[in-house]
Amino acid sequence: MKRKTLLLINPANQLRPGFHINRATRNQPLSLGIIAALTPTDWKIKIIDENFRAFKYYEADLVGLTAFTSIAPRAYELAAIYRAKGITTVMGGIHASMVPEESMQYVDAVVQGEAEPVWPQVIADFESGTLKKLYKSPFAKEISQPKPRRDLFHPGYICAGIQTTRGCPMNCSFCSVSAFNGQHYRFRPVEEVLDELEEVPQKYVFFVDDNIIGQSRESKERARQLFEGIIRRGIKKQWISQSSINFADDEELLKLAYQSGCRMIFLGIEAETEDQLKEANKKLNLSRGANMYRHIFDTIHKHGIGVIAGFIFGWDSDTPETIMQRARFAIQCGADSFQTSLLTPLPGTQLFEKMVAENRLLFTNFPDDWQRYDYFEPTIKHPLMGTETIIHVFQEAKLKIFSPVNIIMRNIKTLLQTRSFSSTLILSLNYWHYRNIFLWGMHKKESRKHEND
Ligand code: SF4
Repeated sequence: MKRKTLLLINPANQLRPGFHINRATRNQPLSLGIIAALTPTDWKIKIIDENFRAFKYYEADLVGLTAFTSIAPRAYELAAIYRAKGITTVMGGIHASMVPEESMQYVDAVVQGEAEPVWPQVIADFESGTLKKLYKSPFAKEISQPKPRRDLFHPGYICAGIQTTRGCPMNCSFCSVSAFNGQHYRFRPVEEVLDELEEVPQKYVFFVDDNIIGQSRESKERARQLFEGIIRRGIKKQWISQSSINFADDEELLKLAYQSGCRMIFLGIEAETEDQLKEANKKLNLSRGANMYRHIFDTIHKHGIGVIAGFIFGWDSDTPETIMQRARFAIQCGADSFQTSLLTPLPGTQLFEKMVAENRLLFTNFPDDWQRYDYFEPTIKHPLMGTETIIHVFQEAKLKIFSPVNIIMRNIKTLLQTRSFSSTLILSLNYWHYRNIFLWGMHKKESRKHEND
């Protein structure tokens, strides 16, 4: 009997590449690797990854797609190609999970939430001709994730993605992690993560967790076990991850993190003033106070690790002056590289609900307009500034943060403060790559101008 083919697609928007513009900032489609691992072995599986190759039609019996919100229109476009030929399409991932009613109009079935509990049923129903429109996955207490089928990933990824925890209790106003992965922080078994880590061929690893150490005593203990396990097994990887500012609280843990290969940590700083942190519902940053940021970064540097600070621009209380003030604060705060985003209401967030209730979304021709919700383009009516003003002042702020002089000066400081050549190299490349992404933002502005001409 002929084996059935499952085609999994990782869509990308070629006109708005964002983080996909650089090979180094592309992330492996981990969820597709997990879906592949959950699929019965009598299926043939292929991944089409638009991060690396332009789409080419490939025959399949069943097509699975995943997408962030800004990529959803491309996912629907690809689904339409297959549906026109009578081939069944299934979509999962954060966007489909947040707006399943919309996705159901463009694909045959939607997986809402985490795939592990329901994917075997999706396959069984497809095979028996009883596929449902919606598969709603309950939040599992434990993560029972199979090892992703990494053999199906494009070999061009510089960084291997590994997830060790899911969920976040913080529920910041602009973030959909708590809605997607739950507020309950869950861990994968440490030995399982270590086994996976040993198997990845890449030297560099991105622990894609939203918060690698979490907030509780239990979660910090789990992080300690993970770092100690990497050292004990002699795993020689260099890794990066994301955390909240309490990453700096435990210096013993920082020491272990560096010894286990941590070279760079992303911290969501968001803003430097109380008004904006309140808008963000960023309780931890509020409780510490912005004047602590430098001390936090210095403590992390002391242990050889560099910091990417994430800042958000366009809060309701922002003015042109506060935006430029944030840019000045960023380059003086002691962080080693920066992510700069415009406040963007993504479905599933408190912010999105608020903007809908206040009728402040600038673009509502969904799904096409979702591609604008990519953190680069203003998507909400601001109470104090016109859209053109926001675009202009945001560009000015980024020109300041990403000026070559600032980057070079910061790279030197990173080396002096971390005394780690490997951390400095990673941070320096990251800073330049982010500059490139930022310049792409300028290109997009140009293309938007042409669209409007
Ligand atoms: S921004 Fe970070 S801390 Fe806040 S809810 Fe999202 S993952 Fe949690």
